[in-house]
Amino acid sequence: MKAVAVYPAQRIVKIIDRAEPRIGGPSQVKLRMLEVGVCGTDKEICAFAYGTAPSGSDHFVLGHESLGEVVEAGPGVTDLRPGDLVVSTVRLACSDPNCSACRAGHYDFCMTGKYREHGIKDLDGFMTEFVIEERHNLHPVARELRDVAVLTEPLTIAEKALIEVQEIQRRLHWEGRGRRAVVLGSGPVGLLGAMALVNAGYETCVYSRSPKPNAKADVAEAVGARYISSEQTPVEEMAEQVGNIDLIYEAAGAPQFAFEVLKHLGSNGIYVFTGVPRDQGPIEFHTERIMYNLVLKNQVVLGVVNAGPQAFDNAVRDIGVFAARWPRALGAVITGRFPMEAFHDPVMGKAGGIKNVIDIAQAGRQ
Ligand SMILES: [Zn+2]
Ligand SMILES: [Zn+2]
Repeated sequence: MKAVAVYPAQRIVKIIDRAEPRIGGPSQVKLRMLEVGVCGTDKEICAFAYGTAPSGSDHFVLGHESLGEVVEAGPGVTDLRPGDLVVSTVRLACSDPNCSACRAGHYDFCMTGKYREHGIKDLDGFMTEFVIEERHNLHPVARELRDVAVLTEPLTIAEKALIEVQEIQRRLHWEGRGRRAVVLGSGPVGLLGAMALVNAGYETCVYSRSPKPNAKADVAEAVGARYISSEQTPVEEMAEQVGNIDLIYEAAGAPQFAFEVLKHLGSNGIYVFTGVPRDQGPIEFHTERIMYNLVLKNQVVLGVVNAGPQAFDNAVRDIGVFAARWPRALGAVITGRFPMEAFHDPVMGKAGGIKNVIDIAQAGRQ
């Protein structure tokens, strides 16, 4: 079977041939990969800034945003049958007995850093025809969501953020607390985040570089969010238009922009960072306003990475909700489907669009 493999030491990304894997335990499931989404992390990995092969191997299979179809289930798996669709967890728990986060099933909060991640760290990814996975790492998805379910994994970031935000907002003991949200960035993480926020009842504004009209603004507006271009509207003006900003969901990965907007977080506001920036050297920044506001406005700043089982379950549920509520807008997030042989442009970030997807099932049909 074919796979897109990364050789970090040799700085090569290429299609390789591998033996088809076989079920090796009662709780394992064999999946035929249907689609694998491509994101900035894949681009970083293919620029060799990131990504490690499993120990003993000089390469690993790329891809962490998956949609697969069950072809075979081990004898211990009673609730999945051939043809069922599933999305796989990306991160697997570390094995350290002292990692209380992983031992409690909250591997997204792993404290040792020895977790493994499909297609990213010490574990093969999903850009291949067949994969073996443990049942407990799989989240079943309804058949009707076949065309959009590959967006589940990028949505888990917002779902994890919403779980955290709910916990934090519990400190505000009154009705109607925290309902105005600003999303920074209009890539897939930003747009899916905007959908999750609108769906959770937030008055949502997407604040992103490109002026209207553009395809990303169209998606934002189609789901009921407001779209404001940061090129046309300075941050002070945006903040004035929005009112007290209760929540900022950062999905742009641009540090200077992110901290500039932080100055305008409202009273009792929460700021969630999700972007992973590349080192661009030090910048000069006036920090007094940020510290002043953090204290005088009871603000909370947090980062979220990866997602736990609850966030995956919520994402599967909400992809279904979005598909029913905004079928066209959700579908419009996926702007390109490429056969595995044409992985280069999407993976190197040269294909443009919003979310590009590798259509693995196509390889299987040939
Ligand atoms: Zn991703
Ligand atoms: Zn751990």
